[in-house]
Amino acid sequence: MRIILLGPPGAGKGTQAINLAQRLKLVHISTGDILRQNVSNGTDLGKQAKGYMDSGALVPDDLVTQMLERQINQPDTEKGFILDGYPRNISQAKALDKILKQKNIKIGLVVYLDTSESVIIQRLTGRLVCKFCGANFHIKNMPPKIDMICDKCGGELYQRTDDKEETIKTRLEVYKKEASSLIQYYEAGHQLRRISADEDADPVLNKIVQLAQSI
Ligand code: AMP
Repeated sequence: MRIILLGPPGAGKGTQAINLAQRLKLVHISTGDILRQNVSNGTDLGKQAKGYMDSGALVPDDLVTQMLERQINQPDTEKGFILDGYPRNISQAKALDKILKQKNIKIGLVVYLDTSESVIIQRLTGRLVCKFCGANFHIKNMPPKIDMICDKCGGELYQRTDDKEETIKTRLEVYKKEASSLIQYYEAGHQLRRISADEDADPVLNKIVQLAQSI
């Protein structure tokens, strides 16, 4: 099964994708995580992407799409995958369709995580991420058992540089500019399901699992 999670920054795409991947035995592909890895490893791609990411802008489509295609072509995605953070606009959605068509596969489900702006700001400003496994925590809502240490793998937690209030504003503006046309695109293709994602992670996960099991 191939699933896309859509929604604004702070909707919980990363958390849901990690848990859903475990539950449904699918591969989690997060373009944000792969880009951050490239930045921290100092690769050419990382050097090109860093400035855009730090300011909250989108990295150019061709760079991200090439990176995504390499990931989708890995043998471990054969049983299916969950896309988190891609596509971000119509041109990426069309590029994805092209990649999938070449492989003769299709997206089965697109879940739109509908989230209110106050919840988004509150989640992002308190978010902590594991440097090692990418698991998400929250200073107040979901604190780690040991201060700044990941419960899942023992890795160090950090606050993303783009989770500052100023950059969050830019990221939300970028998101809003592209979101409605992207949603319409998948509504027209009939794969889109909307769910409210203001609740805690577990009830939201259960709703996504139900949707996945119903297709
Ligand atoms: P995320 O972890 O999904 O919030 O992404 C963090 C940052 O990585 C974004 O603000 C963008 O700068 C960049 N990024 C991630 N995915 C994409 C994408 N599909 N297209 C362009 N830029 C992306």
